[in-house]
Amino acid sequence: MEKVAIIGGGASGLIASIYAKTKTNQVMILERNVTCGKKVLITGNGRCNYWNEDQNLKHYHSSHHILLSTTLSAKNQEEILTFFRQIGITPKIKNGYYYPFSNQAVSIQYALVLEAKIKGVEIHTDTLVEDIMTKDNQFIMTTNKEDIIADKIVIATGSKACSKTGSDGQGYLLAERLGHSIIPVEPALVSLKGKYSYLKKWNGIRTDVVVTLYENGNAIKTEKGEIQLTDYGISGICIFNLSRYVAIGLKQLKKEYITINFLPFLTSKQECIDWLEKQNKQVKNRTVGELLEATLNYKLVAVLLKIAKISSNQKWQNCTIKQQMTLVDLLHSFHFDVQETNTFEKAQVCSGGIPLIEINPHTMESNIVKNLYFTGEILDVDGDCGGYNLSFAWITGMLAGKDIRSKSNDSN
Ligand SMILES: Cc1cc2nc3c(=O)[nH]c(=O)nc-3n(C[C@H](O)[C@H](O)[C@H](O)COP(=O)(O)OP(=O)(O)OC[C@H]3O[C@@H](n4cnc5c(N)ncnc54)[C@H](O)[C@@H]3O)c2cc1C
Repeated sequence: MEKVAIIGGGASGLIASIYAKTKTNQVMILERNVTCGKKVLITGNGRCNYWNEDQNLKHYHSSHHILLSTTLSAKNQEEILTFFRQIGITPKIKNGYYYPFSNQAVSIQYALVLEAKIKGVEIHTDTLVEDIMTKDNQFIMTTNKEDIIADKIVIATGSKACSKTGSDGQGYLLAERLGHSIIPVEPALVSLKGKYSYLKKWNGIRTDVVVTLYENGNAIKTEKGEIQLTDYGISGICIFNLSRYVAIGLKQLKKEYITINFLPFLTSKQECIDWLEKQNKQVKNRTVGELLEATLNYKLVAVLLKIAKISSNQKWQNCTIKQQMTLVDLLHSFHFDVQETNTFEKAQVCSGGIPLIEINPHTMESNIVKNLYFTGEILDVDGDCGGYNLSFAWITGMLAGKDIRSKSNDSN
């Protein structure tokens, strides 16, 4: 009987185990936590955004992006969606974002664990894999309990984002010891920090904006959506989607700054000037502050006026040209220098990891060590917010499991 060990019982490891199990092989999950899928439980604010209808590859990022089209093929997407239906998940689809109908991530986690158990997968919890060696075409794993020998292994240990869920980056060390290289790992889908005296004043504001990331003065990417202004900086989905570039850029000592358009319905500074003039004519006897407070959060207005040095009783027509132009700049392209990203602990995922060129994109098997597989976030792929990281975890887990299954004596 062939022995298969899946190291890590998270999103991709659970799927890999289900697909790998046949009547004639022994499949075991080695999971350090007391339960499997701890991270899955906190995804999507506890609702688990497990898929996205828009699977355009532009939502995925990797140093070897071209290889993704094989792994994330339309056929594989269709197959994994069928799998979720077959394990009983009814989707609730909102603007293309998939959630379980229950609105509870536990529906997904429980369905996966149950399916693994029904298939006959052995789940060894509280089992931390500390080291792996190869000997006579087998893998010998040192764990916190005993040594475990397997013929095939899947490393599904995740990245080093949010280590309280069990993924602390140890998988990278295991991979390196087996001869793989690692593309530097940085936090991604994470908030950004700055050093400004006004931060405490705007803390707690949520507002719709257009944000653009600049690197050494060059525009890199623009996002539209809700931003959260915090006492350390800026957060929210549109900021998360820029953060991978910021983390990598800061490491390369690039100057990273974000511009924020607080009036996203106006596309140029001239439109902003025209709008202010029009508002001032239409709404009589108002100070600049009163005019703006009809559209923007009052705490934000106070911050903007303070920076523009406009007093609370000043009207638009009484402002100097300099004050007017400063205010227009602040409203249309508020400049925010990023000092650093938030920590790995606060990040949802990581960029970097095991290079895709070291992996067979059809099977997730290592090109370096036979019978060794990698799935999920440990690979050098990170997705945008919106279900892409779980999508990648599910599909890579499925491909590894299917390959193991197809090579077992009884592939039914
Ligand atoms: C707060 C938060 C919200 C998120 N929301 C979403 C979302 O809504 N949609 C989305 O697509 N993505 C989301 N993600 C990202 C998504 O959860 C991950 O990309 C995905 O879980 C990665 O799957 P994985 O199998 O690679 O790793 P994980 O799910 O992290 O699983 C790795 C497992 O390996 C175990 N492990 C690690 N090292 C060892 C070892 N040495 N020995 C034994 N076991 C080990 C860990 O305990 C863990 O259980 C979110 C992430 C966070 C942190």
